[in-house]
Amino acid sequence: MREKKFCPYCGAPLSERIEEGRTRKWCKACNTTLYENPVPATCSVVIDDQNRILLVKRSVEPKKGVWCLPGGFMENGENPEQGALRELFEETGLRGKVDFLLGVVSTPGTIYDSILMTGFLVRAYTGKAKAGDDAEKAEWFSMDTFPEIAFTSHKNFISIYRAAHENTPAPG
Ligand SMILES: [Zn+2]
Repeated sequence: MREKKFCPYCGAPLSERIEEGRTRKWCKACNTTLYENPVPATCSVVIDDQNRILLVKRSVEPKKGVWCLPGGFMENGENPEQGALRELFEETGLRGKVDFLLGVVSTPGTIYDSILMTGFLVRAYTGKAKAGDDAEKAEWFSMDTFPEIAFTSHKNFISIYRAAHENTPAPG
């Protein structure tokens, strides 16, 4: 992970100080504390009518060449569902509808210190899966034979779906 060295507001070099028991980056020049928080991201467990799961093969780092769920970082002004469905469309060309929330987990990141990952179940969608942004491939896999998954949080959402919802009917 790269470290922030300069104040984003005034450009002065950052120092550190302890606030509420935590060491925080602080700009002495403009007396600003840089609060760093987990970065929100979303992903979708997309299931077709044969109980196959949609995975994308990553074309960018981190974990380039490894499969994962469609997803990515939230943009300002969108809610988590919108973020998940936008990423789904960008990476696979599918227009989906969120069925329900599978879970929210905090996970260490490679670019950011910590990521807040939200996972949704999507069983209603239109279109045909085709690789887009950040994805080299987008393919459906059987639950018994899917490949290694790049991120533990994604793997956990698949397990949550399988354990609790695999046999619940999809919305009609
Ligand atoms: Zn400053």
